[in-house]
Amino acid sequence: MFHYSGNDLYCEQVPLADLARHAGTPAYVYSRQTILDNYRAYDQAFGDLPHAVCYAVKANSSLAVLALLAQAGAGFDIVSGGELFRVLRAGGDPSRVVFSGVGKTADEVEYALSSGIHSFNCESEAELALVDAMAARRGVKAGFSIRVNPDVDAATHPYISTGLNRHKFGIPMAEASAVYERARRLPHVAAEGVSCHIGSQMLDPSPILEAVDRVLSLAAQLRAQGDPIRHVDLGGGLGVAYQASERTPAIGPFVESLAARLRSSGLKVMVEPGRSIAGPAGVLLTRVLYRKKNGHKEFVVVDAAMNDLIRPALYRAHHDILPVRRNALPPVTADLVGPVCETGDFLARDREMANAMPGDFLAVATAGAYGFVQSSNYNSRPRAPEILVEGAQYRVIRRRETYEDLVRGETV
Ligand SMILES: *Cc1c(COP(=O)(O)O)cnc(C)c1O
Repeated sequence: MFHYSGNDLYCEQVPLADLARHAGTPAYVYSRQTILDNYRAYDQAFGDLPHAVCYAVKANSSLAVLALLAQAGAGFDIVSGGELFRVLRAGGDPSRVVFSGVGKTADEVEYALSSGIHSFNCESEAELALVDAMAARRGVKAGFSIRVNPDVDAATHPYISTGLNRHKFGIPMAEASAVYERARRLPHVAAEGVSCHIGSQMLDPSPILEAVDRVLSLAAQLRAQGDPIRHVDLGGGLGVAYQASERTPAIGPFVESLAARLRSSGLKVMVEPGRSIAGPAGVLLTRVLYRKKNGHKEFVVVDAAMNDLIRPALYRAHHDILPVRRNALPPVTADLVGPVCETGDFLARDREMANAMPGDFLAVATAGAYGFVQSSNYNSRPRAPEILVEGAQYRVIRRRETYEDLVRGETV
């Protein structure tokens, strides 16, 4: 939904140069249609197989984005009480919420139980005992899955690979069945499923398929032992193309290969995609402030920085840099840097890109997931607004922060 018409970059039918002039920069811009298309690609490819697409809230937790997905019928995968609050505020259905994460606090478990979420993806036996105790206090029975660690290598960036035994996530496959067995003695939890999530930004989905086979054989074993396992939750993790040389694995065929493995199991399948729904749906708009040269090195200094988008600094991630209006100048090889006082503050390094001059706008591509949500106020920079485009219209779904916002809650 981001495309050039003539020399101008558009989001749906909105020219981004107009939007940048009206809303100011830096600004996050999302295509409503792309978010919906990606969600529906998951939902429709499962066909009549019982399924739930639980969008991973942490990828992009803007209320308007959550509301859009809730209305389209999505469930939600949350990793904190704050994310549950957002889902409920956006009109999400708590009975379609699964709660993941290694460090749920008692307060968060209490909030989730009182909200009536679908189930907990438990990552340790101690957590399961806590859920049982808190459910007992409320006189309810909580559904749970154990997040198993299938010990498969997601072959992605080490910070977002989660499925090996040396990672903090989940319970090793070999120990899982004993944990389910001991859980049968806990009166206030009920084994509903088996879950896993082996990592993120996987351009090759074959590790996920390998994990599915392991999770399914555990589920079959547990059912044979009398656990009423109803679903398998396969997590998220499908990657997106951040640069032209990468190929985005198509959602439809990926889901069909999952479905083919699951059809005979009689189990409902859940998935928790985040990046593959929101990532391609957003850009970060920024304006060139200055051009400078230190020795032979060219710098393009822009008004967006690592506090707005930390992925390049944190993961050395690549985002394509697109001119909002193409000019006739030859491209330049430069570092695209922001105003933050850190050498790590770059959005692109040694990159051949459009020869943009002060005042020109650039779009940092594929920034819809893990973009705004990881932004901060570092260097006391107000956070950027978020804007949702629908056809030829757009609306500000989160206004730009003010200096007053920066000090809210503080005292001298
Ligand atoms: C982060 C996360 C996801 C989403 O991962 P994507 O790579 O964004 O699809 C899903 N499930 C869990 C448990 C996660 O931590």
